Amino acid sequence: MSSPSRSSRLTGFYKQSVAERRRRLLELAGLPAEGFAAVDPGALPLDVADGMIENVVGTYALPFAVAVNFVVDGVETLIPMAVEEPSVVAAASNAARMARPRGFTSTSSPPVMIGQIQITHVTDVDGGAARLRTAADDLVAEARRLVPRLTERGGGPVAFDVRILTRESADGAVLVAHLHVDCRDAMGANLVNTLCEALADRVAELAGGRPGLRILSNLTDQRTVTVRCSIDDAQLASEGADGAAVRRAVAAASRFAELDPYRACTHNKGIMNGIDAVLVATGQDWRAVEAGAHAYAARTGAYRPLAVWREREGGLEGELAMPLAVGTVGGALHVHPGARLALELAGAQTAERLAALCGAAGLATNLAASRALATEGIQRGHMALHARGLARAAGATGELVDRVAAELAATGDVKADRAREVFARMCALLDSGDSR
Ligand code: NAD
Repeated sequence: MSSPSRSSRLTGFYKQSVAERRRRLLELAGLPAEGFAAVDPGALPLDVADGMIENVVGTYALPFAVAVNFVVDGVETLIPMAVEEPSVVAAASNAARMARPRGFTSTSSPPVMIGQIQITHVTDVDGGAARLRTAADDLVAEARRLVPRLTERGGGPVAFDVRILTRESADGAVLVAHLHVDCRDAMGANLVNTLCEALADRVAELAGGRPGLRILSNLTDQRTVTVRCSIDDAQLASEGADGAAVRRAVAAASRFAELDPYRACTHNKGIMNGIDAVLVATGQDWRAVEAGAHAYAARTGAYRPLAVWREREGGLEGELAMPLAVGTVGGALHVHPGARLALELAGAQTAERLAALCGAAGLATNLAASRALATEGIQRGHMALHARGLARAAGATGELVDRVAAELAATGDVKADRAREVFARMCALLDSGDSR
């Protein structure tokens, strides 16, 4: 969205027709009248698709939507999403509405990617590592000369370091060198791979070994984004659950994810629901981000949640921290019309901004999922209690209270007349001697 003064709070957007939604967004984002042609059916020409990947036989469509209500770093923001799963867009929009009073805030590291050069069969592994460390500045300078335009833009190789992986293996002693490259607004995989290939022979020679693999690492733990939000209890309240109860339940759900990898995995899936939808819409390499996210989640040796929620006085604070290697140049962006439109709608001109929006979307879908789980859990508890009350009111006593309540809860029809019916049927069965 081009103007920060325009609100992303699009009341009733979900009830409008596609044409009405388009009209509203065209005005809001200042797009030309034909702006949405980029996401019309068939918008990706077959010959363009044929040039993108191999063995093309068609194009494949997904729903393209916009999540509303987001304010990220003080800017009203539309979040484009392409996803097949129902409720992701609604969940993100609902959570963003809750977070609106303070909005989402982000901080990012510089966009530094890691390129790996593996060196195998090193004859003197300590000496080889020492020689590479001594040559680090020269190697960075040499690498910078290979990417003059990126360096002019303020990016380029920034550091070089080396680790001993093993002193003895089927590949002999193995070293791995890391070239750290500031990729500015590019995701950077091709950039980094090219640099690693160019340096590999010299690096292997200095180390006294053989060049092995030369490729980026998708564990981009130096290219991270942290997104926070702070939500008052009043915003968290839902039908049947007051805000303080939801706050406590979401914080408890977070602690569960922090203790248990089985829960953490599903918790992180809820985060990736939002993030992947933005990545797909904006033409990003979502496999790269997925791989990096889960490796980062497991970086301590235990698989951990990428976002945590803590209670504060009268509210809830969420924080998501994860690697997000995205680009607003390069990759599929120069050919995919839908991806370009998505970036325009989002107003994301830099990779840093796009990463912040992805993070906000992920924190939002995580909150929505945790809150729904928490409140549905509360509701189920309420319903069970309610069912017992109704069973008693219908006349049940002793163990019949539980049996009537269980049947009401199982059918989901927790009502007084139904309780009377179930109780009467059970009494009749007992009278006839059948106690099933
Ligand atoms: P790319 O090859 O298109 O390079 C980006 C280009 O943009 C560079 O030539 C750069 O000079 C130029 N550029 C213009 N303005 C820039 C700016 N402001 N900041 C930075 N660069 C600018 O793309 P890439 O980002 O190097 O590579 C991404 C692609 O690589 C994706 O398609 C990805 O799927 C693919 N890839 C991924 C992996 C992996 O993740 N393991 C491996 C191989 C390839």
